[in-house]
Amino acid sequence: MQTKKIIFPSNLHAHTFYCDGKNNPEDYILTAIEKGFTSVGLSGHSFTKFDTEYCMSEKGTLEYLKELKNLKEKYKDRIQVYIGIEADFYSGFNPKLDDNLGLDFRIGSVHYIKDKEKEEYYCVDNTPEILEYGIKNYANGDEKAFIEAYFDNIVEMVHTQKPDIIGHLDLVKKFNKDFKYFDESAEWYKNKVEYVLDEIAKSEAIIEINTGGMSRGWTQTPYPSFFILERILAKNIPITISSDAHETKNIDFYFDESLEIIRKIGFKSIKILKDGKFQDFNI
Ligand SMILES: [Zn+2]
Ligand SMILES: [Zn+2]
Repeated sequence: MQTKKIIFPSNLHAHTFYCDGKNNPEDYILTAIEKGFTSVGLSGHSFTKFDTEYCMSEKGTLEYLKELKNLKEKYKDRIQVYIGIEADFYSGFNPKLDDNLGLDFRIGSVHYIKDKEKEEYYCVDNTPEILEYGIKNYANGDEKAFIEAYFDNIVEMVHTQKPDIIGHLDLVKKFNKDFKYFDESAEWYKNKVEYVLDEIAKSEAIIEINTGGMSRGWTQTPYPSFFILERILAKNIPITISSDAHETKNIDFYFDESLEIIRKIGFKSIKILKDGKFQDFNI
């Protein structure tokens, strides 16, 4: 039987030169129009005062929001443009401010684990060396405690910040090729993931299938891992697909393959932001 090829016509996770991306917001919009997308969103990294290298500055955030508002208006007859942010768990982002900032959606992401004793933030996705430094220094080198702290941050984020989308759920595996740092099939790891998913299932949050680790050559499969996707389906948690693009050419990187993967797992629909709300997109 010939099945019709389905294209997912949207991406909400993309970074511009306002943070660590290579293109400007308008380039993404034009790329999305070329691809025939229904909607497109931008999601600049929220300001983190303890690490300013990759994120938008406080002033830059306001300029970014202003530019997106103008572009949304300029292209309204050609594509639905949505204004978003990738809010780091430690940004101190106040969800009540979303309306004032004019945000249409928020991706909540954990990129750090804070060492409360040393007042230090350990980044999990910058370089393997920085990850190793964090694992060595957190809780006297207890890597299980480090990984669990990452997932505890996700749970706290879901409870307190209520993001629309949870970014790269298992980002902590980014440098874990061949299970270098921890065994994803270990009972404690699977139990921790199960607990996180149970908490997410009680919320309204959508989990993204994120292909950004792949487009940048770090992972062989999207976030989250296949066994996690199976548990997400079992718990009926909504998902979407996003590329976490840092340049326009990756706007729909590995989307077709990701659709294939999740259809095989058994998903029947994913969420698309359309006409101002998250809706089911049948796959
Ligand atoms: Zn991120
Ligand atoms: Zn991102």
